[in-house]
Amino acid sequence: MAENNSHHSAGQETAPDGASGTGQQERAGKERISPPEQRQPEPGLDQELRPKADHGEHSYKGRDRLTGKRALITGGDSGIGAAVAIAFAREGAKVALAYLPSEQPDADAIAGVLEDAGVEVHLLPGDLRDRNYRDSLIDEAVAALDGLDILVNNAGKQISVESLEDLSDEQIEATFDVNIFAMFALSRAALRVLPEGGSIINTTSIQAFDPSDHLMDYAATKGAISNFTKSLASQAAKKGIRVNAVAPGPIWTPLQPSDGQPIEALPKFGHDTWLGRAGQPVELAPAYVFLASDEASYVVGSTVHVNGGKNQP
Ligand code: NAD
Ligand code: MG
Repeated sequence: MAENNSHHSAGQETAPDGASGTGQQERAGKERISPPEQRQPEPGLDQELRPKADHGEHSYKGRDRLTGKRALITGGDSGIGAAVAIAFAREGAKVALAYLPSEQPDADAIAGVLEDAGVEVHLLPGDLRDRNYRDSLIDEAVAALDGLDILVNNAGKQISVESLEDLSDEQIEATFDVNIFAMFALSRAALRVLPEGGSIINTTSIQAFDPSDHLMDYAATKGAISNFTKSLASQAAKKGIRVNAVAPGPIWTPLQPSDGQPIEALPKFGHDTWLGRAGQPVELAPAYVFLASDEASYVVGSTVHVNGGKNQP
């Protein structure tokens, strides 16, 4: 049984200093960053990112679009998942976050921000490769939140390897296990509990459509996620549940300096987009809010691309 830490601590806001450095919160995340070369052990911590990423701590304004909804977000401690958690909370949702136990410092920081929004937060740490944890996570979330309306399948593993000859079976299996096998298991369990009007949102990637050759296993899982999103959407629609995906481009998160990219590529990360910069996690949040909200009642099996401009389908 995963521990259900209902969390209480206030005022732990972290300024998105490195990303903007200006103090003008509304501008945070819209400037080009050139991160210094850096490396963290996987899965990486937002706390250690230089510059810090912007999750909307100071900028995201809710408009009651998810009032009363209950959401589970995997990988909700950091990066895109953390920005989605903040946005969902400020839109009035109750939120449960799943993440690896080693990410507790990031989860605690985000939980502090969420509680400032005056909503319930539940922390459900565990490893999605652990079958006991994986198979009980949806039930744990239902127990914590008193039901479930939204599942955000966002946890992901990305390790850059230059050549297929150096890509181990172990890595290929681990990447598929976290990125797509866990998504099957969590979605299957969610279909048993989501009500009519419920929603599943899968995080795919630009890599599903335009793969980098040093991310061969990761890109293949993202292709699988995009395909799975459509077949699941078709099945779930018969129950009145909407399934969609978000496909981020290059976003500044702990995934990248924890072997997600070659270290020497970090200073120019995202500079090849049409906007010429990496995105910040906060810039992903509105897409997830839209897909989760009742405003998207006729949006099914779709992918929202948030990538600063890159070749896409
Ligand atoms: P992130 O490191 O902040 O989030 C990934 C999360 O996955 C981690 O926080 C961790 O909690 C979770 N995770 C990894 N392995 C796990 C395991 N074994 N068990 C449980 N949880 C595990 O980075 P992010 O960039 O915000 O990634 C979120 C999603 O966005 C991922 O699916 C990633 O593939 C996708 N994505 C990211 C980018 C980008 O440029 N950052 C681009 C496209 C897609
Ligand atoms: Mg993390």
